[in-house]
Amino acid sequence: MQPEKNLKVIDLNENLIEHNEFLAEQNKETFSKYDIKTFDIVGAIGAGKTSLLEAIIDKIEGKKRILVINGDVTSRIDANRISAHGVKTIQINTGRECALNAYHISRVIKNFDLSKFDIVFIENVGNLICPSDFILGADKRVVVVSVTEGEWVIQKHPLLFKLSDIAVINKIDLLDILDINLESMINDAKQINPNIQVFPVSAKTRTNIDDLIKTMFA
Ligand code: MG
Repeated sequence: MQPEKNLKVIDLNENLIEHNEFLAEQNKETFSKYDIKTFDIVGAIGAGKTSLLEAIIDKIEGKKRILVINGDVTSRIDANRISAHGVKTIQINTGRECALNAYHISRVIKNFDLSKFDIVFIENVGNLICPSDFILGADKRVVVVSVTEGEWVIQKHPLLFKLSDIAVINKIDLLDILDINLESMINDAKQINPNIQVFPVSAKTRTNIDDLIKTMFA
């Protein structure tokens, strides 16, 4: 008996990720064909991804034509909030999947007139682990955490910070009432990824949002 002769091993995870990267590359080509700048916004539920988008949209609306793709397991709460700002919004409900993947995005953009937009923001499903492996074909990935998640939130999720271009530390308006060392959070991000650009912001008070926008569109 030569069991290995009859045995075929398929690493489904590896195949899935490879296929995802292929689709992400196609998405990237499609977006660049229309000269669209794209952002994949990732972070836990409650980090303030939607609030951050609202703050950014309020600053650039009217100057740029914006499309927001909202990923969520079941609800339309975020998409409703975003569309209230007068911005075209598409909701993707992922069901049991804890992150958007390149296939979701390819389905959305396939039959959509992208010539009407300059910027696409993709708000990923609220999760700090699942999105790591699944790139979408966006120009930049922005990871959002908030000071309410605790000082060690960055150290505990190194992979996502390694694979992101910009780190936003949100809700700094709450620093006075929290026992949090912001400097150490910034250092953690830099230690994990020396190339990452870190922005402590408050989406609520709009602190540092202008600087963030400058870097996002640099
Ligand atoms: Mg949200």
